[in-house]
Amino acid sequence: MGNQCNQDSYNDMLGAIQSFHNKHDFKGTGGEDLPYRVALMAEELGEISSAVTKGKSTDQLAEECADLMILVMGTAIAADFDLKESFWKKMDKLMKRKSKMINGKIRVSEFRDVN
Ligand SMILES: [Mg+2]
Repeated sequence: MGNQCNQDSYNDMLGAIQSFHNKHDFKGTGGEDLPYRVALMAEELGEISSAVTKGKSTDQLAEECADLMILVMGTAIAADFDLKESFWKKMDKLMKRKSKMINGKIRVSEFRDVN
């Protein structure tokens, strides 16, 4: 961390979030409780939405996206899974999926129940 932090490194980002959790003892104080984290993520998603719908600056949108990203990465710590591995697995799946235009917007999905 600190002056040895590589800002491009996923592991260093995760380490910074782990330090944040440690600083406030999230593990011992409910901060890693999954239902609570889901509520916090929903809250941040709402802030992203209002940044867009209220025409706030890109800087404000970026800050709200960072809030959500920090929560998502922290949820990987809280629930003990490897988000980087999940990310690349999912990207591989997504890249193999087909897209469709639905109501004028592109959708990439498995389209299991749709004709
Ligand atoms: Mg926020």
